[in-house]
Amino acid sequence: MNMADQPPMPGAKPVRRVVIAGGGTAGWMVAACLSKTMGRILDITLIESDEIGTVGVGEATIPTLLTFHNLLELNEREFMAATSATFKLGISFENWRNVNEDYIHSFGLTGKDHWTAGFQHFWLKGRERQLAGDYGDYCLELRAAQENRFAHLPRNGLNYAFHLDATRYAVFLRRFSEGFGVRRVEGKINAVNLDEATGHIRSLTLDSGASIEGDLFIDCTGFRALLIGQALKVPYEDWSQWLRCDSALAVQTQSVGEAVPYTRSIAHDAGWQWRIPLQHRVGNGLVYCSQHMSDERAKELLLSKVHGEVLTTPRLLRFTPGQRREVWRANCVAIGLASGFIEPLESTSIHLIQRGTIRLMQMFPTMGIRQSDIDEYNQQAQNEIEHIRDFVVLHYHVTNRTDSEFWRGCRTMDIPPSLKHRIDLFRETGRVFRMQNELFAENSWIQVMLGQGITPQQHHQVADLMGDQELAGFLDGIRQQVNRTVAQLPPHQAYVKQYCASM
Ligand code: FAD
Repeated sequence: MNMADQPPMPGAKPVRRVVIAGGGTAGWMVAACLSKTMGRILDITLIESDEIGTVGVGEATIPTLLTFHNLLELNEREFMAATSATFKLGISFENWRNVNEDYIHSFGLTGKDHWTAGFQHFWLKGRERQLAGDYGDYCLELRAAQENRFAHLPRNGLNYAFHLDATRYAVFLRRFSEGFGVRRVEGKINAVNLDEATGHIRSLTLDSGASIEGDLFIDCTGFRALLIGQALKVPYEDWSQWLRCDSALAVQTQSVGEAVPYTRSIAHDAGWQWRIPLQHRVGNGLVYCSQHMSDERAKELLLSKVHGEVLTTPRLLRFTPGQRREVWRANCVAIGLASGFIEPLESTSIHLIQRGTIRLMQMFPTMGIRQSDIDEYNQQAQNEIEHIRDFVVLHYHVTNRTDSEFWRGCRTMDIPPSLKHRIDLFRETGRVFRMQNELFAENSWIQVMLGQGITPQQHHQVADLMGDQELAGFLDGIRQQVNRTVAQLPPHQAYVKQYCASM
């Protein structure tokens, strides 16, 4: 007996008709994943409005996107050619610790761990004895990013992600999803109709008068949160006491010079600027705190800092960093910006869309919606986003910058206790532990904590057991191996061109 033939559990209505409201990156990622994996037992409709359009940003990703693409069995060359993607090995943080200083938060691992202690302890010991270089010297991805090189390596390859054109990505996923039977309806939703007895959504009414009924509704309507927020009135938890930027201006420019395999994040006096190089253009933006910078000043600043001809009119976006208290209520699951938004500093939103989608598949209520599933889904989503929030707050809080009211405020603000504990632990002992199911692993925390200026007061004593010669040999061995591999890699841009051309 297959799933579709099983009788529904008593009291719960089986879910067959799925309605996805919204066709931005979130809507089409959900549609692609659901249709590929469960399309044969579901009837999936996606509604999007050309008039409203999408947020049009969200072009830097992290390596977990490869898992999503593997699940969809996408051809990477086709995806890259269709979305004008480039490779990404990390993020360069410029002016974050001090003006005119930078560091890279790269993907991958740094050095080699000992079973009792992470590599950072040996590196700290090496620094103390003047035997060690920069922490980044021991990370392949970081050095490749610095040298602007990239290639797929046969074994122990580079850990990478992509920069992609968001609009083209939605089009690419739409084609994919329609191939698996997703029905697309163009039109503006003007009413969300609830069943008064159950509080569930019964249907959506479009401007045309058409009514779309469903068993399960996925809210992918972006910041509007038409279903979860406006109709179901699920409150939003505001995190702006820790994440003070609430505005962004985005603009596209012509490419100047070679596309580098990393995102640039350049801090200014009340926010930061992104630069995302694609094959055909560069995505730029300024994320800022409107309390400390006017929109006019932001526009002036952004336009004075971009290179190349400006291709679009700067687009203003407002947001409140935070999370919907429940991302699944009744028969509505919010995914994407409708579910919450931590600002884009660590490129985590697309990852959260993917996580929300995979979690939904794992708990898909084919046999009927159960409160226990809803509670589990919400708990997992909350844990996940709070870890990411702490990681992003770290960048703002641990800084030496005192040159503006914005940075002084970030330095002195109260931070979540979970983050305070991590910082204290690292500062006092050099130790970092990844929490269960947490996105960012130890290496990410260490790179950013060191990069933002924390020097641990201690290291694990196991590193003291190595004599100078042994420690120098250990550190140099790793550094030389990294440098040898990097020297064999071709320039990033040439590699992208050749890779996409050989489809
Ligand atoms: P949207 O793109 O806004 O899509 C909403 C959809 O709902 C649209 O199709 C719209 O037409 C439809 N819709 C809305 N109302 C109606 C209605 N009444 N009727 C019918 N349809 C309707 N994420 C990253 O991972 N990396 C980044 O580098 C990154 N940078 C960002 C920078 C900024 C400044 C911002 C604000 C976000 C960034 N993000 C980033 C987040 C990323 O943009 C989003 O996670 C992603 O684009 C998904 O958006 P969405 O699909 O939820 O919403």
